[in-house]
Amino acid sequence: MIGNMMFQPLLISSLIEHAALYHADTAIISKNTDGSMTETAWGQIAQNSKRFANVLQSFGLTVSDRVATIAWNNHRHLESWYGISGSGLVCHTINPRLFPEQHKYMVNDANDKVLIFDKTFLNLVLSIKEAIPYVEHFICLDAYDEDILQAFPEVLFYDDLIAQHSEHFEWPELDETKASSLCYTSGTTGNPKGVLYSHRSTVLHSYAASLPDSFHFSAQDRILPVVPMFHVNAWGTPYSAAMVGCSMVLPGPMLDGESLVQLIDEYEVTNALGVPTIWQGLLNAAYQCGSKLESLVRNVVGGAACPPNMLKAFKDDFQCETIHAWGMTETSPLGAVNQLKAKHAALDDSEKFKLRFAQGRPPYGVSLRVCQDEKGTAESARDGQLPGHLQIKGHWIVESYFDQFNHALTQDGWFDTGDIATLDQDGYMQISDRSKDLIKSGGEWISSVELENIAIAHPELDMVAVIAATHPKWDERPILIAKKSAASSLSEAEILDFYANKIAKWQIPDKVVFVDAIPVGGTGKILKKDLREAYGSILLAAVPA
Ligand code: AMP
Repeated sequence: MIGNMMFQPLLISSLIEHAALYHADTAIISKNTDGSMTETAWGQIAQNSKRFANVLQSFGLTVSDRVATIAWNNHRHLESWYGISGSGLVCHTINPRLFPEQHKYMVNDANDKVLIFDKTFLNLVLSIKEAIPYVEHFICLDAYDEDILQAFPEVLFYDDLIAQHSEHFEWPELDETKASSLCYTSGTTGNPKGVLYSHRSTVLHSYAASLPDSFHFSAQDRILPVVPMFHVNAWGTPYSAAMVGCSMVLPGPMLDGESLVQLIDEYEVTNALGVPTIWQGLLNAAYQCGSKLESLVRNVVGGAACPPNMLKAFKDDFQCETIHAWGMTETSPLGAVNQLKAKHAALDDSEKFKLRFAQGRPPYGVSLRVCQDEKGTAESARDGQLPGHLQIKGHWIVESYFDQFNHALTQDGWFDTGDIATLDQDGYMQISDRSKDLIKSGGEWISSVELENIAIAHPELDMVAVIAATHPKWDERPILIAKKSAASSLSEAEILDFYANKIAKWQIPDKVVFVDAIPVGGTGKILKKDLREAYGSILLAAVPA
């Protein structure tokens, strides 16, 4: 047939070009590592991203080489992202909260050629430097600093580099299926696994995430992504923001409630995104200082289940609509988002709250199903009743992990999320449990298996299990259930001491519960569900909300 539409590859460079052309003066407000503020705009971000692309070219990097970042949400990080991915390189964001062994593993596994970092992470970088021999260039995301140069003589400074290079750069016309960024999942036993996003998946995800029934972004908004750029690319918000031309406030390293209230009020943020722990901190701070968060029209909560009273607190006390969303590193992350439909308008408030407490329904571009097993052999009814293994497929869902040849999918092409959920006929999904043996504390993963392996190495413990206990601040915290050997007089403090230097401090269990027996099922597996029922609330009494 004659006649066709144009074909243009969906590229990340097209997002920043669009923002530069049509939203050049839209503000990007950024908190620097020292707490000072920088006000810039999309036009300037685009120019500097081109300068940085020239810097990277001058290093002789070739398409798909990896460039790592260890940085907070700030304007230089944003510029570097567009410079890296736009020029055909892969932006590998690293979570600074992980253990140094994991940092070394990830940088080497990704074969990063350049590592750029915020001042805050100088010591982290120095501590792993000798173990990451393939990194050829280290760039401090800041202006020249004599002290840093003293500590790290081969370091380059971002501001110097971009000042030396031209703002003219021709973005390459890449294949849209080429990799654009890389993010590692953590918390699993064994090494972290890399998820490689493509230009195409990123652009399509940005469309879906911006829609009114998703994060609801527009050129009238000023958004505050509190979710870090090293957590699934800040949920893709820097890409969606360029697509719709909204203004952004980037909060830098200060994510405490007080600092966030100040940013929201001073810069009139309309929409903010983060994990429940962040919002709990924000609510407490706002109550304390009497702020009404007047500009805040909506906030997005995801990464962990939204406590029901949080939706109500934002609505009743701040007239702010809280949008509950679900996703994971492997899903870019948006897999479901909770917005009501027209038919729900007649429901009363309590019924609406009940519906909105679920994790939501999939936007166009992804599909969900729940199955009776993780292989996906039998799909469960979409009746909102029977929980099953939640599986997903779509344009921005992982197919295989970085550098692993095996597909991560079921035989019929779905990705098993490791979450247990119900699905109703309208597509509303509600998570009820997790099949993966992980604990999510304040948005960061802790592997229960790793904690068990450490504890069981103690000669006076016969059997152990680590479970997630609900925590009012951190959503979940690990607790250790332990059966001591007969003659042992081991104390809780001694066991907790045993964890020191074997794991990051914040991953050490909050509590040890000594028991006479740990329940096991027919196949000899520990019945963690029973343990969660028995001890899952044990921290709620101990810690004031
Ligand atoms: P990550 O890959 O670190 O983004 O973690 C993804 C996992 O976090 C999911 O598989 C869920 O177990 C959990 N998660 C994310 N969002 C939610 C949510 N809204 N409610 C409950 N759990 C969530």
